Amino acid sequence: MGLTIGVDIGGTKIAAGVVDEEGSILETVKVPTPPTPEGVVDAIVEAVRQVSTGHSIEAVGIGAAGYVDDKRATVLFAPNINWRHEALKDKVEQRVGLPVVVENDANAAAWGEYRFGAGQGHSDVICITLGTGLGGGIIIGNKLRRGRFGVAAEFGHIRVVPDGLLCGCGSQGCWEQYASGRALVRYAKQRANATPENAAALLALGDGTVDGIEGRHISAAARQGDPVAVDSFRELARWAGAGLADLASLFDPSAFIVGGGVSDEGELVLDPIRKSFRRWLIGGDWRPHAQVLAAQLGGTAGLVGAADLARQG
Ligand SMILES: [Zn+2]
Repeated sequence: MGLTIGVDIGGTKIAAGVVDEEGSILETVKVPTPPTPEGVVDAIVEAVRQVSTGHSIEAVGIGAAGYVDDKRATVLFAPNINWRHEALKDKVEQRVGLPVVVENDANAAAWGEYRFGAGQGHSDVICITLGTGLGGGIIIGNKLRRGRFGVAAEFGHIRVVPDGLLCGCGSQGCWEQYASGRALVRYAKQRANATPENAAALLALGDGTVDGIEGRHISAAARQGDPVAVDSFRELARWAGAGLADLASLFDPSAFIVGGGVSDEGELVLDPIRKSFRRWLIGGDWRPHAQVLAAQLGGTAGLVGAADLARQG
């Protein structure tokens, strides 16, 4: 099979890209994400039509944030777009005239990294995406593992603190409340409130107030060595690494791949994640250790992965 299209549905933009068999993106189109569920379907169709022009396309893969059923056809539940049992595959197939595969966006990103990024050469890979929340993907025995009903790898909602912080999902103490971009901002605000003298660089990057601290300020301040910013990354990394040790107990992969916006900081966050992982890995002195690797494809992993999953049918 030759060229396929991957679609990534973001909060503000929908990206569609033509991808070849080597995972290279030949052309992309971006359209604004409409506010209504029906509008999003229209925008996906429009983006696919635009980017198809001049190419011979064989299939379309769509990565969607939410629960996708085991047939990879229906979005059962998407918290951000308000899709409930949305028959996305049928609707898009009818209008673009190509086979369509729908996949959870974190699964698609994991597949992209496994095939063309940091996971190349590994048969057993667990991916976590540290974005606003925490997403995940499971590849065991060279296969993407979705579970019986298609909704496995929701690592962000593993409860790591009994009666812990309230999560948007309705539960308490979910991992993503402690290891995510949102958690990073909370750590920085707490620390800046307690010791503003250690957050001078961080506060100077925003409007000067603790409430004005944003994720991008923490990244920039950490690169300057701001103590509060660096310590906030370390706190996030402690939780992330401890969680990876638990996932090693479950899946025993040869590699963990850490992606998402938070991982853009590279060793600043990966080094303490590795330390925490080793600290909490059971029997760590007597067993092989999985590698903890930075994702390589950045924001295109989901698009490339969705396109490749569509190619595989
Ligand atoms: Zn939760």
